[in-house]
Amino acid sequence: EDASAPLLELDDVAVHFGGVRAVDGVSLHLREGLIYGILGANGSGKSTLLGAVTRLNPLTRGHLRFDGRPYENVPAHRVAHLGVARTFQTVRLIDDRSVLDNVLLGLDTADRSKRKHARGRADEVMERVGITHLQRMRPSELSYGMQRRTEIARAIVGTPRLLLLDEPTAGMNTEERDEISDLLRSLQQEGYTQLLVEHDVQMMVTVCDYLFAMNFGKLIAQGLPDDVVADQGVRESYLGR
Ligand code: ADP
Ligand code: MG
Repeated sequence: EDASAPLLELDDVAVHFGGVRAVDGVSLHLREGLIYGILGANGSGKSTLLGAVTRLNPLTRGHLRFDGRPYENVPAHRVAHLGVARTFQTVRLIDDRSVLDNVLLGLDTADRSKRKHARGRADEVMERVGITHLQRMRPSELSYGMQRRTEIARAIVGTPRLLLLDEPTAGMNTEERDEISDLLRSLQQEGYTQLLVEHDVQMMVTVCDYLFAMNFGKLIAQGLPDDVVADQGVRESYLGR
């Protein structure tokens, strides 16, 4: 193992759906411990890129390495074992189960069967994201913000090394957004490397250490947030000015 290897490496990754080049030759590196963001207009390939990283979307070409090891042939259900977890753009909670059960579903079967340990870990993450008082409720009884927190809890209960977040604050008001920003930054303090997709530029500049910008499946800019947001190509393709 190479101690200096990036946590995640994408080399010329493409995901095409028939003629749609959703992701079209993306190469990037993520270093451990940082919060990365992806900016881009609707349809620019952000969610598909997260799906490529979790192996949900088949690669048309390209290579993936996690912690220096190739994993493009690892099936999606095994990617969690590598230490990669994600939340989805739309809420995906199971409504005939409690909030606690939904969080526990973030553990694989083997870990879930070690009941005491699983329960202890679930308690820890529910406390961490602020949903302990809601654990007996059904997801649909929760506010939207609390549903999103439940999804973050489910994603981190297995202690992933890389957390992918697809628009975790979509549909939230400013106050809820600020709370999620604080939560993501405090997760960073605990060592979670994060790759975040969000539309709110101000939030991205505040939360992220490093930004990528996508347009039509390609990376068009990357760097420090202030620089990426000031980039002319990014302004034209995304910010509309
Ligand atoms: P973003 O998350 O940046 O809004 P997406 O990754 O969802 O963009 O989509 C990128 C492009 O790929 C869009 O044109 C979208 O319609 C297309 N796309 C995404 N998923 C599929 C799919 N499963 N089948 C066909 N086309 C898809
Ligand atoms: Mg998307």
